Amino acid sequence: MTQETGGAGVSDSVDLLRRLIGFDTTSRNSNLALIEFLRDRLSDHGVDSQLFRDAGGAKANLYATLGPRDVGGLMLSGHTDVVPVDGQDWSSDPFILRQEDGLLYGRGACDMKGFIAVAMALLPALRRQELRRPVHFAFTFDEEVGCLGAKDLAAQLREMPVLPAFCLIGEPTGMHVVNGHKGRLAMRCHVHGREGHSALPEQACNAIESAAEIIARLRTLARRLRDQGPHEPGFDPPYSTVHTGTVEGGTALNIVPRHCSFDFEIRNIPSQDPLGLFEEVKRFALGDLLADMRRTAPDSAIVFEELSRAPGLLPNDDDALLKLALAATGDNIARKVSFGTEAGLYQGAKIPTIVCGPGHIAQAHKPDEFVALDQIARCEAFLLHMVAGVCAH
Ligand SMILES: [Zn+2]
Repeated sequence: MTQETGGAGVSDSVDLLRRLIGFDTTSRNSNLALIEFLRDRLSDHGVDSQLFRDAGGAKANLYATLGPRDVGGLMLSGHTDVVPVDGQDWSSDPFILRQEDGLLYGRGACDMKGFIAVAMALLPALRRQELRRPVHFAFTFDEEVGCLGAKDLAAQLREMPVLPAFCLIGEPTGMHVVNGHKGRLAMRCHVHGREGHSALPEQACNAIESAAEIIARLRTLARRLRDQGPHEPGFDPPYSTVHTGTVEGGTALNIVPRHCSFDFEIRNIPSQDPLGLFEEVKRFALGDLLADMRRTAPDSAIVFEELSRAPGLLPNDDDALLKLALAATGDNIARKVSFGTEAGLYQGAKIPTIVCGPGHIAQAHKPDEFVALDQIARCEAFLLHMVAGVCAH
């Protein structure tokens, strides 16, 4: 009952989620229609938004402030893009919300339009409150393909007269408070050798075999990190991991391959610099390995290309926002997760940041992705508690 409790009412959140799921904001598409919908909704409640478009103009971040503008407040943050449904076997149209047995199905229901719907459904309740500190809304593009929108927004926030005092990101944590996650460095490596008849391999330079040597180095690095650390308790696994995901190369067995490329990633505990780990591997590749390749093929080359990089979230157990969030959820301690979010970027912009949102990461990115109504209700109560704690006095 919206009027009686001052809360948003689950039905408002569900109605909004239905609208949000209807926009196909797969990262390869524009998110403008959804962003404009949010802007208009905010405007209906008397709140102006700033839209920051990307270089191509087809995508935008939205930033809006409700309440006083001369002091930093609580930033409620989420990404508007979703992962593709290509090749996934859905029981119903992924872009039409389906409600069944207390569960809300749809692409992005859990990751993370559910949170955005709850935050937006708070608007009428927030308008009725006297806010001493503002509530900021920050909705970004292209999180799923490397936190591209949040990188821009973190820089844009630094230019503002007042920085948000706190940031709460509603990625799906099952409404548990998370204050640490790993970082990620994703790389592609191109190895160029020399083609030749496989009967005369010594006159050619086998790009696949050279790539395999680099991949073996990555594997050795992964073992060392596992066995020797550094280890950071609370993470699963409690060390930085290294993994090669795809390899492409070669044309036929009787041709020495000229080209091979492969993608690998480092998921680092937040206290470890992934670039330092990458440098170890790069030094070997561009040193001994390339020198050996150039003995037979002087124009051999190895090129590393950064696909994406997002910093980890370094836990701060003394943070005031964290203490408030723990009290609101009833958690004793904050958790750490292995998946990445935009949180490390905002922390890098000097905004204390935590992650807590409806739904579970195990339900994200899958066919029949869902969020439970109960999680939506808990998120509503949580956000009202957080706004009261940060902004009401
Ligand atoms: Zn997400």
